[in-house]
Amino acid sequence: MCFARRTWFVASALCFLALALSSPLSAQAQTQTSILGFTPSSAAHEAEIESKFKAIPSPDEERRQHHIFTAEPHVAGSARNNELARYIADEWRQEGLEDVIIRRYDVYGSNPKSTFLEMTAPVHYRALLREMSVPGDPDMKNKSISSAWSGMSASGEVTAALVYAHSGNPEDYELLRKQGIDVKGKVVLVRYSNPYSYRGFKALTAQREGAAVILIYSDPAEDGYKKGQVVPKGPWGPEYHIQRGAITYDFMVPGDPLTPGWASIPGAKRIPVEEAVSIPKIMALPLSWHDAKPLLANMDGPVAPDDWQGGLPIKYHLGGKRVRVHVKIEMDNSTQPYYVVEGRIRGAELPDEWIVLGNHRDAWVFGGVDPSSGTASMMELTRALGKLAKQGIRPRRTVVVCSWDGEEVGLTGSTEWGEQFADELRSKAVAYINVDSSTSGPNFHGQAVASLAPMLVETTHTLQDPSGKTLYEAWKESSTREHSEGKQEQAEDSNLADTHIGSGSDHTVFLNFVGMPVLGLQFDGPYGVYHSAYDDFFWMNHFGDPGYRYHTLMSQLWGVLALRLANADLLPFDFASYASNIREFVNELAKDKDKWGQDKTMWGLDLKPVLAAVDNFEAAGKRLDESAAHALASGAIDPKLADTINHGTMQVERNWLNPDGIPGRPWFKHILYGARFTYAHLELPGLTEAVEKQDWPTAKQQAEILRQALVNNTKLVNELNSTLNSETAEAGK
Ligand SMILES: [Zn+2]
Repeated sequence: MCFARRTWFVASALCFLALALSSPLSAQAQTQTSILGFTPSSAAHEAEIESKFKAIPSPDEERRQHHIFTAEPHVAGSARNNELARYIADEWRQEGLEDVIIRRYDVYGSNPKSTFLEMTAPVHYRALLREMSVPGDPDMKNKSISSAWSGMSASGEVTAALVYAHSGNPEDYELLRKQGIDVKGKVVLVRYSNPYSYRGFKALTAQREGAAVILIYSDPAEDGYKKGQVVPKGPWGPEYHIQRGAITYDFMVPGDPLTPGWASIPGAKRIPVEEAVSIPKIMALPLSWHDAKPLLANMDGPVAPDDWQGGLPIKYHLGGKRVRVHVKIEMDNSTQPYYVVEGRIRGAELPDEWIVLGNHRDAWVFGGVDPSSGTASMMELTRALGKLAKQGIRPRRTVVVCSWDGEEVGLTGSTEWGEQFADELRSKAVAYINVDSSTSGPNFHGQAVASLAPMLVETTHTLQDPSGKTLYEAWKESSTREHSEGKQEQAEDSNLADTHIGSGSDHTVFLNFVGMPVLGLQFDGPYGVYHSAYDDFFWMNHFGDPGYRYHTLMSQLWGVLALRLANADLLPFDFASYASNIREFVNELAKDKDKWGQDKTMWGLDLKPVLAAVDNFEAAGKRLDESAAHALASGAIDPKLADTINHGTMQVERNWLNPDGIPGRPWFKHILYGARFTYAHLELPGLTEAVEKQDWPTAKQQAEILRQALVNNTKLVNELNSTLNSETAEAGK
C-alpha cells in the first residue's frame, strides 16, 4: 500500500524540462574502487560481480513480467493471486533459487459480497460504485474488476442523514460540533487527503464519534483534474476512479487480527473476533467523485470553511439534514489462506547470515504500480541472482527473497512470516530491503535506518539513471527540488536518505517487531490512480515508466544493495550516523517544548542525559568506523574476527527493542521508530506520545528506556572496537 509515503507527488512540468535540458556530458556511473565494508581486493572482486549482475535485468523482461502480473485482478485470497504464487515459485525454481517453498497462513481475511448506496432524499440517486472503461485501455473492460469496497468494513444496512466531515480527522469533528452538527448514527462523507491521513484512522475516528457509516471519496483537488490531465490523457485520476483500501486498525497491531504477536500457522491459538483490536466496527465504502458529487451538491446546512472546499464546481456544505442515504454492505470477513512464497540463494561462506528481500504480490485490482511494478523488479532481480549462481557466483551470505500476501489487508503475510521466524531472524538476519511499488515515475526515494543510510547513498554512485546521470546525481536533484518546496535546503549526502520510517508496508514487522535494520526503495512520480482499476498495464506504459527503464534500475539497485550486504567483509553499519540521527530526533522533540503545556516542571523530565548518551554512542560509533576502515585497509581480516564483529554489529538494531513495546501498543517494540495512527512516521514513539499527552511519569520512563538502550549499545560498540583493535594489532605484529 505504501500510503505513508503517498504524498501525491507534485507534478511539475518544470522538473521534466530541467531533466531534458541538463548537461549531455553526464557522468557515467563509476565502478567503485573502495566500498564501505570491503577490503581493497574484495572491493575489486565485488565490483566485477556487480557489473555482471547489473548487465542482466532488461527492460523487455521487466515489461513481460509486469504484463503477467497485471493481466488480471489479484486481490489477497483470490484464486488469481494464489495462481501467481505458484507461478513465482515455478519461476524461482527454474531460475536456480533454492529451498523454494510456499507457506500457508490461515488468517482473518476480508471480501465483499455486495455493496449498495443510494440517496433517498431530497432526490433519488443510485451510486454506480463502478469504474467506467476509457478508450485505449482493454483491461478496463475486464469483467472481474471489483466494485467499490473497503477491506475490513463491517456489514450492515443503514438509512440516515449525511454529513460532510472534510478529511475525517478529529479536528474536523470539533468544527462540526461547534456548528451544532452531531454525527451520531449518521453517515459521514470524507475526503482522502486534505491533509493526508490513513483511511483506517478516518474510520476509527468516525467510529469513535458514533457515526454509522464512513464514505471516503477522491476529490479532484487531491488526485484528479485539478492536478493535471487525467487518464487516458494523463496520469491523474479520472471521474470514476475509486481508491479501494483496507480500513484495518493495523497501527494498533498489524497482521492477522486474531493472532496478534504470533503466526497464523495451522493449529495456532486464535482470539475471538470481538477481542481483536484491529478489526473496525464501522461500515465503510470508498467513492469516486462521480458518485460523491450528487451527494455534495444536494447538501444543506452551513457552507463549509474555505479549506474544506474541494475541486468540484459546487459550494460544499456541512449537511446533516436534507440529504439522506441508504447504505447496504455485505462482507465475507472470515478465516482464509494467504500464501507467502519464499526462496533463497544459499550463501557460499556464511549461509546462516541472511539478507532478506521482499515485495507484496496482492493488489486491489491489477496493481500496475502497487505492487506489480515492484513484483516485476523482483522477478528480474531473482533471475539475475539465479543466473550468477548457475555460473558459480554465489553471495557469501544467504539472500532470502519473499513474495508477501495480504499486505493490502493489514501487512498480513509479512507480519505472520516475521512472527513465525522472529527468533531465527534475530540471530541470523543482517537487514531487510523492501520494495512495494517500484515505479510510478522518475524520482528516487530511498528510506533507510540511519546506520545503513551511508551505504545506500554510496551504492547510488554506481548506478546509471535513465536521465544519463548517475542515480546519485538524479536523486540529489529530485531531492533538492522536493526540499525546496517547503524550505530552501540543498540536499546533502547526510539527508538524502529518508530516515523517518513509519509503517504502511512490509518492512514494519522486521523493523518494529524483529528489530532488523531496513531499507525501502521506490521511484515516484505524478500518480492519481492509486488502488483503482486504472492503476494497470496501460497506465504504466503511458505514464509511469513507458520504457521500463526505472523498473530495470530498481532491479539493479535492489540487487547491488543485497550483494553488498551479502559480500561485505565487515557489515557496513555506520553507528556514528545513527547517533547523529537520533540526536536530531531528540532535538526535534525538545524544540516543541513550548507546546508541552502549562506544567513547566514536567515532573522533572530532562532530555540532557539522553543527549549525553547519544554523544557517547556517537563517539563509540566514530571509533569503530575508524578501526574498521583501518582493518579493511590492511587488506585482510581474520574470518573469525570478522564473524565476532559482524555478529556484534547485527545486535545493535535488536537492542533498540523494548520487549514491553511502546505504551498502549505492545506489538511495536522499536524505541526509535514507530507510526502514528494516521500512519505518519513517529520518531521515539513511546517518549513522543507520552510528551504529547503530557503524561510526564511515562515520558520520564520512556526517556530512561531510551537512555539505557543508548548506554547498552555504546558498551557493545566499544567492546567490538577493542576486540577489533587488539586483534588487528596482534595480526600486525
Ligand atoms: Zn503496496
